[in-house]
Amino acid sequence: MADRRFFVGGNWKMNGDFKSIDGIIAFINSGCDGSCCDKVDVVVAPPAPYITYVKEKINCGAQVAAQNCYKVAKGAFTGEISPEMIKDLGLNWVILGHSERRHVFGETDQLIADKTMHALEAGINVIFCIGEKLEEREAGKTKEVNFRQLEAIFGKNVDWSRIVIAYEPVWAIGTGVTASPEQAQEVHGWLREFLKEKVSEQVAASTRIIYGGSVTAENCRELGSQSDIDGFLVGGASLKPDFVQIIKARS
Ligand code: PEP
Repeated sequence: MADRRFFVGGNWKMNGDFKSIDGIIAFINSGCDGSCCDKVDVVVAPPAPYITYVKEKINCGAQVAAQNCYKVAKGAFTGEISPEMIKDLGLNWVILGHSERRHVFGETDQLIADKTMHALEAGINVIFCIGEKLEEREAGKTKEVNFRQLEAIFGKNVDWSRIVIAYEPVWAIGTGVTASPEQAQEVHGWLREFLKEKVSEQVAASTRIIYGGSVTAENCRELGSQSDIDGFLVGGASLKPDFVQIIKARS
């Protein structure tokens, strides 16, 4: 297994209120019992209004992320938040390019690349999401789509040590249909080769590529044992105590 630190992100999406968030924080704090965050990068992304609350209450070493941000520092962009604001809150991570941003809100490869570059410049690390839709997989376009989404940030001045790539096949997100370990490993292997060819051998070897799409306490160990799967981005199961088992998938 390569020497890449395991990374588990929890994407809460637009879910939670103070009461349910208290419950989530309680199982993360008690389940992690101070030890798992020593071995694993754990990053949870609550809805923006709860970020500060979660940051104050989490005490096990897990970090807090924003679910999105815009491509400039400030201005007349109603409803948006900037990476500078995320930094000001004391956070270090943002999720960008999530399939719901791409396919529900129509974000393009170019916009996601612009946001990524600006977030990095502002000192925020990026969980950079890519993934094919079912019809694209069925049309044999899995490689093409994922490479196109990833190469939107090639050729720019990217600090790869601050990017985690999340491969999230759209057909697996929130559907209960998980990619098999072989399917996920195949794409992760392609992505690593692509990084080697287009960026560098060092970046290919060191960049974490995590899998997302209906990861559960039941399937996380087998997925996490694949050589190119360096962790997970978890949606639904990150709202449940199962999340702690997923954090411990490699232990
Ligand atoms: C996600 O939203 O990034 C995700 C992977 O969701 P789920 O785990 O619910 O499929």
